[in-house]
Amino acid sequence: MSKERNQTSVSELGEFGLIDRLTKDVEIKNESTIEGIGDDAAVLDYKDKQVVVSTDLLTEGIHFNLMYVPLKHLGYKAVVVNISDIYAMNAIPKQITVSIAVSGKFSVEALEDLYAGINLACEKYNVDLVGGDTTSSLTGLVISITAIGEGQKETIVKRAGAKPTDLLCVTGDLGGAYMGLQLLERENEVFKVNPKMQPKLAGYDYILERQLKPEARQDVPAILKKLGIVPTSMIDISDGLSSEIMHLCKNSGVGCSLFEDKVPMDNQTKQMAEEFSINPIVAALNGGEDYELLFTISLDDYEKIKNDPDFTIIGHMTEASEGINLVTNAGSAIPLEAQGWNHDK
Ligand SMILES: [Mg+2]
Repeated sequence: MSKERNQTSVSELGEFGLIDRLTKDVEIKNESTIEGIGDDAAVLDYKDKQVVVSTDLLTEGIHFNLMYVPLKHLGYKAVVVNISDIYAMNAIPKQITVSIAVSGKFSVEALEDLYAGINLACEKYNVDLVGGDTTSSLTGLVISITAIGEGQKETIVKRAGAKPTDLLCVTGDLGGAYMGLQLLERENEVFKVNPKMQPKLAGYDYILERQLKPEARQDVPAILKKLGIVPTSMIDISDGLSSEIMHLCKNSGVGCSLFEDKVPMDNQTKQMAEEFSINPIVAALNGGEDYELLFTISLDDYEKIKNDPDFTIIGHMTEASEGINLVTNAGSAIPLEAQGWNHDK
C-alpha cells in the first residue's frame, strides 16, 4: 500500500462508484465475451464448445495474511489459483467474475492495489473480468472468484479416467510454495518480536515467488495438444501431491505407486527444508499451492512424453487393490496419507 496516496474511504464513493473506479480499465479480449461488466449479467457465447466453471473463496486470516502478502500479489494469486483449475480440465480460461467483501480498514486505494493484481493476471492469462459483487464485511477481506473456460468435448480431462498401468506425470517442481510460506511465517514471527529486524529473505527468491506470485500452467494444454496427448485424468496441485494423487485414484477407481526419487524439487526448496529440518518430500507431498498439473497418460503415449522437459514421470497407476503407495528411496512401499492443506481442519 503506497503511503503517499490519499486514502479514500469506500463510503465516500458508495458501492457503484467503487465498482466503476475498480473496473474502469477493464477491456474485453475474448470473442466469447458478448457483454461484460455493466448490465445485470454478463453474456457469453461459446458456440459449439463445452464450458467449464470453477469457484474459489479466500478469507483473510485463513487463506492469506496481509502482514506479509501485498494486496497486489493477493489479487494476482486469487485469479491464478482459479484459472489453474480450468487448465486442470485441459481447458482454456476466458472469463472471471470477482466478488469482494471488505471491512472499513480498507481504503479505495488499497482495493485499487488488489485490482491492479487482478488486472495484471487477466492480462497475462488473457481472461476478461465480466462481473462480480462488492459488499461490506465486519472484520477482514473475503475474495471469491469464479473462472469460466472453454474446451472441446473430446479433450476435456476429468479426475476420473486413469487406468492401471497409466503413467503418472507432473509439470514443474513441487514443495517450493510451502517452503516459501514457512520462510515468510518465520520472518513474520521475528518481525513481531522485533520490528527493527530486517527479514532474512535473500537468496530465496524462487520459493518466495512460488508462494507470493504463483503462476498457473497456461502452457500445458497447448504442449499436450502438440504432443498429441490427451491425459486420461488430470488435477492441479493446490493441496499437495499426496492429496491430489488420492483424488485421481478415488475418482478413477485405481491405485498408484509414486516414486520418491522421481518427485521434482528445486534446490532452494531442498535447502529451506533442510533449514527447517523437514524432509523435502514432505513439503512436496503435503505442502500444496504449487499449482502444477498432475496427470496420467496411457503407457502408449510414453514415447511422446519421455524426452519432454516440461514433464516428469513420477509413478504409475495400479489396480485399486494394491493401494496408494510411496516407494521410498530405500525401496520400501508405504501407504500415502492425505494431509492436504485443509484450512478448515
Ligand atoms: Mg483444483
